[in-house]
Amino acid sequence: MYNTKAYSAASATSPLAATTIPRREPTDRDVQIEILFCGICHSDLHAVRNEWSSIMPTTYPIVPGHEIVGRATKVGSAVIKFKPGDLAAVGCLVDSDGTCPNCKAGLEQFCANLTLTFNSPDKHLGGVTYGGYSASMVVDEGFVLRVPSNLALAGAAPLLCAGITTYSPMRHWRVTTGKKVGVVGLGGLGHMAVKFAHALGAHVVVFTTSPSKKEDALRLGADEVVVSRHTGEMRKHVGSFDFILDAVSAEHDINPYINLLGRDGNLTLVGAPAKPLGVSAFALIMARRNLSGSNIGGIAETQEMLDFCGAHNITADVEVIPIQKVNEAYDRLLKSEVKYRFSIDMASLKSA
Ligand code: NAP
Ligand code: ZN
Repeated sequence: MYNTKAYSAASATSPLAATTIPRREPTDRDVQIEILFCGICHSDLHAVRNEWSSIMPTTYPIVPGHEIVGRATKVGSAVIKFKPGDLAAVGCLVDSDGTCPNCKAGLEQFCANLTLTFNSPDKHLGGVTYGGYSASMVVDEGFVLRVPSNLALAGAAPLLCAGITTYSPMRHWRVTTGKKVGVVGLGGLGHMAVKFAHALGAHVVVFTTSPSKKEDALRLGADEVVVSRHTGEMRKHVGSFDFILDAVSAEHDINPYINLLGRDGNLTLVGAPAKPLGVSAFALIMARRNLSGSNIGGIAETQEMLDFCGAHNITADVEVIPIQKVNEAYDRLLKSEVKYRFSIDMASLKSA
């Protein structure tokens, strides 16, 4: 075991603050990583404030962070994909049972025995896993991803959650040229969804509550932007979408979006507000519409997404911050003020 610097919260109402956490010595199969950048996902905030207490209660202290890029500093003797000095990335998963039908299908994100990067039982050290708001971590090689060398690292970090979470459902529901695709909520996930839908050739419409994001949405690849409280603008799109991705972090009415779907259209929720959302049966019934959800993506698909980003030069639009600004960043995240992902420069932790 060794100690490393980190930022943790002691309770649902405490700010994040500097601390020291233990990490295991790398086993034969492990990669030890010096963390260079870690994105701030809204899930970090939900977990730190225990907003998902009924589904995934938070164990304190919590060290959040699951959008991690860094460099391998040490590798175990059985590791074949990485050597010291290589770029290495970690997303939301650090382990799974490897034997269940989901794991066998490459869908580790649905494994009943998965280990999340933070706030999951830690099989090695006991207690819970600690995430990427830290200087160093140790992860089984099978859950470490390769980062294309042409991508800027601060903007590559958010691909590990915001990227895969939006890429995976679009691939699953076959977003491609000729499809009309909506993206609801232009935050960290939403802005990646726009980039992917555009790169996949779809006609992309962004739905936002923030009129000030209109120009950005077009620059990011949207063909049209609708300010969602303008009911007249919404009405123009009724019955016309093949696919809509809802990436909203807070409670909101999803029925107006279901009504925008065409026959057999699909609305996929990736946003995870704490409270249940109401669904109008009629909105679904009248056009055989589908409502579904999606959870990050498996390891193989995450690598596919990173390689796709390498080939298309896609990264997140980031505001790089030192770790000392993380609490301020959370407040701005709640106000939908982030353009469009905070990425923490972990070098700042050295002076914490
Ligand atoms: P984010 O950056 O805060 O973006 C959320 C966006 O939702 C905001 O930018 C805003 O966009 C919109 N929004 C916020 N409050 C709203 C309200 N009251 N009504 C309508 N729209 C509102 O968050 P994120 O990191 O992208 O995460 C989004 C959600 O996805 C979170 O709940 C997170 O936990 C979840 N998530 C799920 C997965 C998964 O695997 N399914 C993975 C990662 C994250 P506009 O300003 O454009 O309206
Ligand atoms: Zn996330």
